[in-house]
Amino acid sequence: MVVENYDRIVEKISKKAGVEKDEIERRIEAKRAKLSGLISREGAAQVVAAELGISFDNETLKIEELLPGMRKVNTVGKIMGTSPVRTFKTKKGDDGKVANLFIADDTSNIKVVLWDTNHISLLETGKIGEGIVVEIVNGAMRENELHLGSFSELKITNAVIGEVNNEKVFRMKKISELKNLDNAKVRAFVVQSFEPRFFYVCPTCRKKAIQENGNFTCAEHGKVAGEKRALMNVILDDGTETIRAVSFHDNLKDLGITELENPSELMVQKENLLGKEMIFHGAMRNNKMFNTPEFIIGGIELIDADSLINELESN
Ligand SMILES: [Zn+2]
Repeated sequence: MVVENYDRIVEKISKKAGVEKDEIERRIEAKRAKLSGLISREGAAQVVAAELGISFDNETLKIEELLPGMRKVNTVGKIMGTSPVRTFKTKKGDDGKVANLFIADDTSNIKVVLWDTNHISLLETGKIGEGIVVEIVNGAMRENELHLGSFSELKITNAVIGEVNNEKVFRMKKISELKNLDNAKVRAFVVQSFEPRFFYVCPTCRKKAIQENGNFTCAEHGKVAGEKRALMNVILDDGTETIRAVSFHDNLKDLGITELENPSELMVQKENLLGKEMIFHGAMRNNKMFNTPEFIIGGIELIDADSLINELESN
C-alpha cells in the first residue's frame, strides 16, 4: 500500500513538473539520504514537490494521497461513521463544538475533524451521516487527520463510491511520535531481541487457554486441546527513539525466527535479526504489567533490496 501511494505521488509530481519519473525518484532518494532516512519516501516526495514549485491545491486527491502538512486539501469520501458532537469552551470563553467523521474511498480512510458550526449542524440535523458521500474542499491536514474550519466546504455530492477501503490504516510515523492506541507503521532497526516465551490458546477462539494439571480450559469453550504459541519481544530503534515491541507467532517467521524448539539454531536466528531494518505495522498499547508503552506488531514489511541499494548509492 505504501508503494502504491508513493508511485502515485511520483507520477503526479512528474506530470505536473514535466520532469521524468526517474529524476523525481532520484531527488527523493537524495533528499532522504540527506536526512539520514528519517523521513518517509512520501514525506520526501512532498519536500521535492515543494522545491519544484508544485502544489496539489485545488486538485481532488484520493484519501491515500493525503499527507501530513498538506493545506487546501480537496477530497471525496463516503461517511462510514460519525462521533457524537462535543462542546468545549474556546479561549475567548465562547461555546465551541467539534465532531468527527470517518470517511473512506477505494484507496483508504481518514478521520475528518469538523470545527465549523455550519458543518456540524449538517450532522446534527441528520443531513449527513453514514453512507452519504461528501466532498471536502479546502481542508487542512493536521498530522494524519483532515481538519475543516470555517474556510472549508463540506457538501453532499452524487459522486459514486463503490467498494471502500475500510481497513485499518497504518500511517508511517516516527517512534518518537507514537501515542497510546495509535495504529502506525514504523521503519526501524531491531537492536535487541529477547528469549521467546510460550503460551497456549484455545484452537477455536484463539484466546488464551488456562493450564491446570496438564489440561487446558478456555473460558468460553471449556476443556480444549491447548495450542502452543510463541511471542517474542524486540527493541526497535529508528533514530528518534527506541521502543519495546512484541511479535506474536504469525509474524515471527518474517523476523526470521522459525527454530523455536531448537536452542542453538534459535540463538543464531536471534543474532541474525540484530541490525535488520524493516517496516513494522502495529498498534501502541500500554503494557498493564509494567505500565510502559509497547508496540504490538501486527505485520512486517521487508524493505526491498532495490530501494535500499538506491539509497546506499545516493549517499
Ligand atoms: Zn475458546
